[in-house]
Amino acid sequence: MDRRWNSSRKLHTKEDPSNIIEERIVMKSKGETIIRKYLKGKQIGKGGFAKCYEFTSLENKKLYAAKVIHKSNLTRTRAKQKLMSEIKIHRSLDHQYIVGFEHFFEDSDSVFITLELCTNQTMNELLKRRKRLHEIEVQCWTMQIISALKYLHSHRVIHRDIKLGNLFISSKMEIKVGDFGLATKLDFDGEKKRTICGTPNYIAPEVIEGKSGHSYEVDIWSLGVVVYTLLIGKPPFETSNVKKTYSRIKNNTYSFPDHVQISKAAKDLIKRILIKDPKKRPSIDDILNHDFLNPGYSIPTTLPSSLLVCPPSSS
Ligand code: ADP
Repeated sequence: MDRRWNSSRKLHTKEDPSNIIEERIVMKSKGETIIRKYLKGKQIGKGGFAKCYEFTSLENKKLYAAKVIHKSNLTRTRAKQKLMSEIKIHRSLDHQYIVGFEHFFEDSDSVFITLELCTNQTMNELLKRRKRLHEIEVQCWTMQIISALKYLHSHRVIHRDIKLGNLFISSKMEIKVGDFGLATKLDFDGEKKRTICGTPNYIAPEVIEGKSGHSYEVDIWSLGVVVYTLLIGKPPFETSNVKKTYSRIKNNTYSFPDHVQISKAAKDLIKRILIKDPKKRPSIDDILNHDFLNPGYSIPTTLPSSLLVCPPSSS
């Protein structure tokens, strides 16, 4: 056995001291510093400027998802402000269907955000495997997303980036709305925001046009895009380039393909939500009262994990 190879490999195992991350909490009132230690595990994802790792608390052995942002990505004031806003908004939230925020801390190189770990990836990966979902699954998960949106809007928070990739799935198969990087908190209910943000396929027409500002209705629009995408298998306004997609959104050009059967109620809800004038879109309570979510059978509150790979057996 080659001992040198063996010892150099050992440096990459979990005992490697560089995999121990320390969170130092200065208790000003007591003049003490508490140190929380985490073991950095495998990388589980990569975002715009964060890498995401599995962290294990060495205190209680609990697993977290940790977003690690290298400070070299935060040299611009705008990037720093955006991250601080994401942290400020996300840490103020506490809801069953929103990714739990644990802590944030920094060392000389990086900023760390520890979050509730969602072990079943996002709806994006799920839809790639399943192609499209059954109505009963979409009804169950729509109820959960709506519950999260109702909570956010009642706290004057607009998410502004509701899309499959930001709908995480927990180990209990519950939806967890995550990534508050584009979220905003209104100072008062009638306030209008003007920043252009969102993800092309899911962005509302009033955001693209930017004339009179936007508000909570942008999340309702994106929810409509999510419901369509889950039932049909691809987003309603998708094209080969962003400019064309924006033009379709502005002209409200989308259709229901003949080869996919969806219920009248599902079609009706989507049509009511994907309306250009934000004032004419249904409210969250209107959606809760719509036939799609009152189908005459009880919508399950949880779904089995077998659905991650195969459709329900009734099909
Ligand atoms: P960014 O804000 O830089 O775009 P994201 O929040 O999108 O970063 O996270 C990047 C990736 O990290 C996600 O696509 C996902 O794969 C993973 N990730 C983020 N948060 C979690 C979480 N709570 N649980 C599991 N994986 C996560």
